[in-house]
Amino acid sequence: MQENLTSHNSPARKHYDYIICGAGCAGLSLLLRLLRTPYLQQKKILIIDQDHKTKNDRTWCFWEKQNGVFENIVHHRWSQLQFKSDDYSSQFSIKPYQYKMIRGIDLYEHVIAAANNFPNIEFKIEKVIHLSSENEQAVVETENNIYTSDYVFNSILFEKISPAKNKYLLLQHFKGWMIETDKPCFNPAVATFMDFTVQQTHGTTFMYVLPVSENKALVEYTLFTENILKPEEYDTALRKYVFQTLKINEYKISHEEFGIIPMTNQKFAKNVGRIINIGTAGGQTKASSGFTFQFIQKQSNRIIDSLVKNEALISATNLRHRKFKFYDSVLLNILAKKKMSGEKIFTRIFQNCSPQTILKFLDNESDLFDDLEIIYSLPTLKFFTAGLKEISIK
Ligand SMILES: Cc1cc2nc3c(=O)[nH]c(=O)nc-3n(C[C@H](O)[C@H](O)[C@H](O)COP(=O)(O)OP(=O)(O)OC[C@H]3O[C@@H](n4cnc5c(N)ncnc54)[C@H](O)[C@@H]3O)c2cc1C
Repeated sequence: MQENLTSHNSPARKHYDYIICGAGCAGLSLLLRLLRTPYLQQKKILIIDQDHKTKNDRTWCFWEKQNGVFENIVHHRWSQLQFKSDDYSSQFSIKPYQYKMIRGIDLYEHVIAAANNFPNIEFKIEKVIHLSSENEQAVVETENNIYTSDYVFNSILFEKISPAKNKYLLLQHFKGWMIETDKPCFNPAVATFMDFTVQQTHGTTFMYVLPVSENKALVEYTLFTENILKPEEYDTALRKYVFQTLKINEYKISHEEFGIIPMTNQKFAKNVGRIINIGTAGGQTKASSGFTFQFIQKQSNRIIDSLVKNEALISATNLRHRKFKFYDSVLLNILAKKKMSGEKIFTRIFQNCSPQTILKFLDNESDLFDDLEIIYSLPTLKFFTAGLKEISIK
C-alpha cells in the first residue's frame, strides 16, 4: 500500500530545486549542462543512484559534426567507416561527421568531478522506490528517505516494458570484448559500423569492430531479436569472428560488456506533473536502431532551454517527431514480422544512399528529400504495406 506521504508521522522531507533520479548517461548529461548554465548552476540539486558509478560498464558510440559537451573525454574518433554484408561491402568517409567513442567510466568520473566543485549539488547512493507528483511538487521515495523537489528528472525504468497489442518489442542485445594484441592488427582510422557477414540464424546479427589503436579494438556481437541468447553463445560467436574473420590467434580480453536495449514503439511512462522522464525511460532510445546517446544529449538541451526560459517542460510531439516515430514503427513492423531481414535492409540502404544521408536519417535529422533517398532504396511494396498497417492502427 502506498504510504500516506502527508501524515504527521512522516519524516521531514528535504526539499531541492531539482532531483535527478539515476546517475547514468541521461542524469549526468543533464547535470553537466545544469552546471554549465549560469542561471541554473546555483540551484539546489540532488542526484540519486543505487550504484556508485565506478565501473566501466558500457561504451557509447555516436556521430556528430561539431564538438559536443563531452569532447574532452572522447576516447577515440573515426571519419572512415566500413559496412560489410555478403552482397555489398564498402569503406567510406563520413565527413563532416565523426564517429566518436566515449567510455562509460570517463563520463561518470568527468561529471561527478565537475559536480564536486559545487556545494549546492548532493549525491546519494539510495534505491528509489516510488515517485509521485503532488501540490506543485515532486516526491521521491527511496528505501530510507523521502525527498521533494520542484522537478524530478527521472531515468529509472520502474516497470518492465510490455508492448500493447499491435506494438513491437525487439531486444538489441550485444556482448563486446576489448581485445589487445602484441602485433599490430587493426587500422585505428577505420571503424566497422556493421559487419553482417556473420551467421543470421537468430535474426538480424552483426559485428562492430572499433579499433582504438593498432593493437586494441572493441569487437561487439549484436543482435536484434525477441529473446536474448545463452551467455556462452555470445562468447562462441566473438571467438569465431576474431579467429576466422579478423584472423587473430593471440589476444587478451581487457574489458567485457553486455547490454540489452529495448527497441519498441510502445509508449514509455508519460511525464506526470513535476516528474519528467529522461533517457531510455523518457523514450530517447530510437526504436528502430537502439541508438540513444545523441537523443539524450538533444533532450538535455531542450530541458535546459525550457528551464532557462521558464517554460513548461513538455515532450516533443511535433509533426517532425511523429514522422520519425512512424518510420520507426514501419521498420519495427518489417523486422518483428520478419518480412525482410535487417541484413538486407541495411545492405540496400548502404548500397544506394550516401553515408551522410543515412547518418542524418538515423539521427532523426533528415528532410523529405533525404527520406525519399532512403525510401527508394527499399522494396516499395513491402514498406508501403507495412506503412499502411501502421497508419491504420494509430
Ligand atoms: C552496454 C551498453 C552499451 C551501449 N552503447 C550504446 C552506444 O554505443 N550508442 C548509443 O547511442 N546507445 C548505447 N547504449 C544505449 C544507451 O545509450 C544507454 O543505455 C544509456 O546508458 C541510457 O542512459 P540512461 O540514463 O537512460 O540509463 P542508464 O545510463 O542505464 O542510467 C540509469 C541509472 O539509473 C540507476 N538506477 C536504476 N534503478 C534505480 C533505482 N531503483 N534507484 C536508484 N537508481 C537506479 C542505474 O544504476 C543507472 O545509473 C548502450 C547501452 C548499454 C547497456
